[in-house]
Parts: sequence; C-alpha cells; structure tokens
Amino acid sequence: MNQRVTVIGGGVVGLATAYALVRDGWQVDLVEARDSLASATSFANGGQLSYRYVAPLADAGVPWQALGWLLQGDSPLRLRVRLDPAQWRWLAAFVMACRTSVNRRNAAQLLSLALESQAALQRWREQEGLDDFAWRRNGKLVAFRTQRAFDHGCRHLLDPDSQRTLDAAELRGLDPALADAPFVGGVFTPGEEVADCHRFCLRLAERLEASGQCRLLLGRPVTRLIAHDDQVLALEMGNERLEVQRLVLSAGHRSAGLALPGLNLPVYPLKGYSLTAPIGAAHRAPEVSITDYERKIVYARLEDQLRVAAMVDIVGYDEAVDAGRLASMRRLARETLPEAADYGQAVEWAGMRPATPTGVPIIGATRYRNLWLNLGHGALGFTLACGSGERLAKLLR
Ligand SMILES: Cc1cc2nc3c(=O)[nH]c(=O)nc-3n(C[C@H](O)[C@H](O)[C@H](O)COP(=O)(O)OP(=O)(O)OC[C@H]3O[C@@H](n4cnc5c(N)ncnc54)[C@H](O)[C@@H]3O)c2cc1C
Repeated sequence: MNQRVTVIGGGVVGLATAYALVRDGWQVDLVEARDSLASATSFANGGQLSYRYVAPLADAGVPWQALGWLLQGDSPLRLRVRLDPAQWRWLAAFVMACRTSVNRRNAAQLLSLALESQAALQRWREQEGLDDFAWRRNGKLVAFRTQRAFDHGCRHLLDPDSQRTLDAAELRGLDPALADAPFVGGVFTPGEEVADCHRFCLRLAERLEASGQCRLLLGRPVTRLIAHDDQVLALEMGNERLEVQRLVLSAGHRSAGLALPGLNLPVYPLKGYSLTAPIGAAHRAPEVSITDYERKIVYARLEDQLRVAAMVDIVGYDEAVDAGRLASMRRLARETLPEAADYGQAVEWAGMRPATPTGVPIIGATRYRNLWLNLGHGALGFTLACGSGERLAKLLR
C-alpha cells in the first residue's frame, strides 16, 4: 500500500492516530499549527490513564451541584456566560446528556474504548518497545473526605472484583504518604496507570519519523478545508495548499473551526489547570494516583515530579493562565498533601479540554467520503488516545 493519509493535529490523539496508521502501512502527513508537537492540551495534563473511571461529567444531579459550585469561592467549576451560541448550544446539550439513562449508555461506550486503549498501549509498550514516558501501573485511589461520600463510593464500585475499599488506617498502609491526609477512606483500583502525556507524544513522534512513512509538518495552521461535493480536496495553510487523498481531523478544541457544511462538531473548550512540582529527597509524595473526590483535584507522581490537576472553566476560547485559579489550587494541594512536593517551585499550566456535551469522543466517517474525525476526547484524551487511534485506523482498512 502506498497511499497517503493527512492528519490535522499533533496532540496525543493526532499522534496516536498517525502511529496506528503507520503500523497499518499508510504514508502519513501530520499537520500541526504550532512549532512543536503536543504543546497544546496534551502538554501537562493530569497524567492519569484512568481506564475504569470514565463516567461522563454529564450525570443526573450535576446541573444542581454545578449551581452550588458557581456560588463557592474555590469551586472546581467556573462559568462565564458569553454571547456565543456555540456555548449555549453546548450547555443545553450537556443538560440533556445528564439524564441517567443517557449517562449509563455513554459511560458504557467510554469504558469499552478505555479498555481497548489500555490493551493497545500495552501492545505498543511490550511488543514495540515504546518506553521512556514515565509510565507506571501504580493504581488509583479515589479518596473521600466525608463518611457519607465514602459510603456512597463503597456502594457504587465499578469493578468489585478488582477494587478494594480502604478505611483511614488502611489508606496509611496502602501509601505512607497518606499518613496525615484528611481522608476518611477510599476506593483503590490497582490496574490504573500513570504516565507523562507530553513525553509519550514525543516518543510517538520519534517512532513516526524513524518509520520513514510519516512527514511531520509543523508550524502550519490549517485555515480552511477545501471541498467539492462529497470530497475534501485540499488544506489551505495561509498561502500554502496541500492536496489530500484521505484526511483525519484531530485538532482538539479547535476542530469546530474547521467544520465543513453539513458537519456538526459539538466540541467546546473546558479549561483546566495543572501544577508540576518537583519532589525532593525530603518530600513524601504518594506513589498511587489520587483523586480528591470532594474537591475534584487529581494528584499523580511522574518520576521526580508531582502533577496536580483540577478545575473546569467554561470561559470560551480564552487560553490564559488564571493566576487566581492556580493560587487556590496550590493552597488546596498544600492543605491536603503538604509534604508531597515543593509547591513553591511548581510550574503552572492551563489547557483546553476538547469536550463534547456527552463526554463521548467523535470517532468515525463523515458525509465527505475521504474525511474522518477523531476528536472531542474531553477530560480523557490521554486515557483514550491509543484505542481511538486504532479504531480510526481500522475504519480506513
Ligand atoms: C487540566 C487538565 C487535566 C487533564 N488530565 C487528564 C488526565 O489525567 N488523563 C487524561 O486521559 N486526559 C486528561 N486531560 C485531557 C487530555 O489532556 C485531552 O483530552 C487531550 O490532550 C486532547 O488531545 P487532542 O490531541 O485531542 O488535543 P490537543 O492536545 O489540543 O491537540 C490538538 C492539536 O491540534 C493543533 N491544531 C488545532 N487547530 C489546528 C489547525 N487549524 N491546524 C493545524 N493544527 C491545529 C493544536 O495546535 C494541537 O497541537 C486533561 C486535560 C486538562 C486540561
């Protein structure tokens, strides 16, 4: 086979797609707007490969809980209503997706994609020797501050055969770094993994370059797709034009800006933040990944760094790092795990989750016969990338 596929977007989803396509024998052009790969949302995310915790954000009770959060100071959620019909449409569709039956259906779809992803990453690591991206199967602890929330967590185990419920004393046994943490208990899932998404992307890019089957075209913002009837003919990148045979759109939260007539791309940015704090010899950082259930903050150890990630800001396309939001995250992290890392030296980051209202990514063909979509992975793009890439590649066989 000597046929070419063009992929727009050099984040974890575009790179995993390119990797799966190259494995299938395709020639790939990967077009990225920025001068470096994985420097948008895939740069400093939470690092959690959270295969069993994939339930969509849209769930029964969430709209009411969200109203409460909006009135709270250090709230995990912030909403700035804009004169933007795309934002209103997205919010309305989100509310519709909060029905229990819809949530359950979407959660099941996400779980099956997540387990495919875990298997794909395992193959890529073990059979193809992909490594050096701080990967570990360290397990994930969802930790609760109140007995009520803990009891609820214990009653709703996702996978009772593998998950363990632990009281406060048992948490200390699990990880001594939790000795003084303010949790009454937790649910531990041993099979969950952690890794550095940016480093993973760079390893994929090295493999792609070494394959001789992939051109990485950096610093090329696609301004328009040129189509005729039911076929995409070319990409316009400023004055440059690139003819395409087959095209995959994986441009994260910017994907909707490249939609063609008749394509509905309900992807909207949900901004989040992370801190990456160095772990010194005197620190006591947890080895397990932690989700602080009530505060919606995640902690993951990536070798000698602690990655803390949180917050959902629905504020349009404003990518600015909000100093106030990061200061409150830093304060909450210090309160919870004061000795885990040097928070004073933490590097701050903001990223835009490419979210669909349902939480389910859009992977598949379109009414244009040579255009496929792989986008809208929201809060789970790292977790779902390998399986999504393989699914997309299968569609092109
Ligand atoms: C705070 C935070 C914490 C998170 N934690 C986790 C986690 O623990 N686990 C997890 O699984 N996920 C997590 N996520 C989600 C995950 O980071 C994203 O889902 C994932 O990075 C999305 O990847 P992507 O490739 O779709 O988008 P991106 O990484 O944004 O890549 C899209 C690329 O397309 C390029 N592009 C856009 N427009 C154009 C154009 N017109 N022309 C050419 N190129 C273009 C962009 O420059 C970009 O490089 C988190 C996200 C945030 C914000």
